[in-house]
Amino acid sequence: MSEVSVTKDAAPVATALVALSGVNKHFGALHVLQDIDLTISRGEVVVVIGPSGSGKSTLCRTVNRLETIDSGSITIDGKPLPQEGRELARLRADVGMVFQSFNLFAHKTVLENVMLGQIKVRKTDKKAAEEKARTLLDRVGVGAQADKYPAQLSGGQQQRVAIARALAMDPKVMLFDEPTSALDPEMINEVLEVMQQLARDGMTMVVVTHEMGFARSAANRVVFMADGRIVEEAEPEQFFNNPRSDRAKDFLSKIL
Ligand code: ADP
Ligand code: MG
Repeated sequence: MSEVSVTKDAAPVATALVALSGVNKHFGALHVLQDIDLTISRGEVVVVIGPSGSGKSTLCRTVNRLETIDSGSITIDGKPLPQEGRELARLRADVGMVFQSFNLFAHKTVLENVMLGQIKVRKTDKKAAEEKARTLLDRVGVGAQADKYPAQLSGGQQQRVAIARALAMDPKVMLFDEPTSALDPEMINEVLEVMQQLARDGMTMVVVTHEMGFARSAANRVVFMADGRIVEEAEPEQFFNNPRSDRAKDFLSKIL
């Protein structure tokens, strides 16, 4: 018998950056997340699609603990989500979230919006926070708006500020929940382009969207949800050209 080497030739185990295992969530009698298993690797871009009410937003919200879960586990970098306090604030910084409604602080300037979390949560000093905020605002193309208030900006500009604000925390992963759904059509692309660039730069991203062009070009994987379940997971090419489930075929026939 030859000796068995267990370590020498073993490939390094790629740890998932985000891992959901057996996750269940109810709202009263509604079983909104049903046995969700999902792992997201570092640098991966996962697009989540599915009909309205299928649990996509709730799924995102559980990952930064805006919603608690009833059973199962969620880990980030192998660690379970913290329950409360400073650890929870840090989790929310590590897991950047961009919503459909931009959720900027209305009474703070654009610059202050992007500085605040850095100072409060990351304990960055003011000068460094401002420098980073300006760099990020330039990067998303709204550097010239730094001293304005959110209401003075277009929707597309506000959403790009929201992205810069999340990025300012050096998140490990970014969650986007229908980031372009509230935008006028002519502003959708300027936001998608920023997201495309982020994806190219290697950011780990979970994106709930109805923008199938984005899904096709930016996603490493498409996750299709219906009725609180992950019904199908595939590479975009496979998913769009050859969906396996009837639910996905039906959904695609209505939106494409
Ligand atoms: P999606 O983002 O796919 O449209 P959601 O995750 O927002 O779906 O919602 C899934 C289901 O859970 C829907 O039926 C919705 O009405 C319900 N729901 C979402 N949030 C709550 C809540 N806070 N309380 C009760 N029901 C909710
Ligand atoms: Mg939603």
